[in-house]
Amino acid sequence: MNIIEKTHCLIIGSGPAGYTAGIYASRAGMKPILYQGLEAGGQLMLTGEVENFPGYPAGVHGASMMQDLKTQAERFGTEIRIGHITATQLSDDKKYIQIDNEDKWIETDTLIIATGASAKWLGLPSEKLLRDAGGGVSSCAVCDGFFHRKKRVVVVGGGDTACEDASYLANICEKVYLLVRKEEMRASKIMQNRIKNKANVEILFNTSPEEVLGTEVVEGVRVINHATNETQILENISGFFVAIGHTPNSGIFKPFLTMDEQGYIITEKGTANTNVKGVFACGDVQDKNYRQAITAAASGCMAALDAERYLASKE
Ligand code: NDP
Repeated sequence: MNIIEKTHCLIIGSGPAGYTAGIYASRAGMKPILYQGLEAGGQLMLTGEVENFPGYPAGVHGASMMQDLKTQAERFGTEIRIGHITATQLSDDKKYIQIDNEDKWIETDTLIIATGASAKWLGLPSEKLLRDAGGGVSSCAVCDGFFHRKKRVVVVGGGDTACEDASYLANICEKVYLLVRKEEMRASKIMQNRIKNKANVEILFNTSPEEVLGTEVVEGVRVINHATNETQILENISGFFVAIGHTPNSGIFKPFLTMDEQGYIITEKGTANTNVKGVFACGDVQDKNYRQAITAAASGCMAALDAERYLASKE
């Protein structure tokens, strides 16, 4: 192993959790190095306006909020680097991080993992086209639902997230179609009941989207019923919300860290501690319940404080 550098604190990930960890760690004099990863800025770069982050009464564009967080972390001395972590070697005694698949490793006393989670997408060409165009395809109802108030939207999925999203959207939209690919939902009964009681939610079982219609913005959705093989067009739709699950970006840590069956890193309750001493996790890579920018930022703060205490206890 070719160790090219040693540091006190290395942060992986550049979403709200990573940058907040950077702010706290640098203010604590830990001189953190933060690797941005492949998707600098994280999931918020895919969001339009963020209106629910406290402190921005007029809302803020996701990308510009991430720029603000980055600037704030740099102001206190976080060294932000472009680069992708491709492997790790983690133990209570030693932590090594490999950059960009080369034989170049950094040894760090503490590691803060803020690699986030990625929304799963259906893979339809029309979904990608309208998502890239910012035309009403989203994986975050809480972030983007407000833009569709009093309009008609489609939610895809049959799990708790889809139910939660459909329920949230039903409170602000005129009509919500929920497309469930099987004849029953995977979601918990309590979540299912929540939407079954909403008059403006229509659940279409055995149904999948075939194409999101529209060239610049979502206008409709062509769906197919697997039981009858019939297709129909849901018209006058403005928003298409995909809620088919998230994948935590935790693969490279698997040999070393305790995770649940879905790959979320398990942290000790009320802390950011993982099962390896000196390794901390924050943000969506360890949170499948809240997944909000504000909760990610808060857990980034926790991770930096836990890292600082860990270093102090070693000294
Ligand atoms: P899940 O993996 O639980 O559910 C994903 C859903 O999407 C399933 O219904 C699945 O269908 C469907 N799906 C997957 N791929 C496709 C596809 N290509 N086309 C159409 N449908 C598809 O993910 P969630 O995000 O819903 O939940 C993740 C975890 O978070 C769960 O443990 C959940 O309980 C938890 N959670 C808890 C909440 C709460 O308690 N308040 C809120 C939100 C999440 P199928 O069933 O056919 O496989």
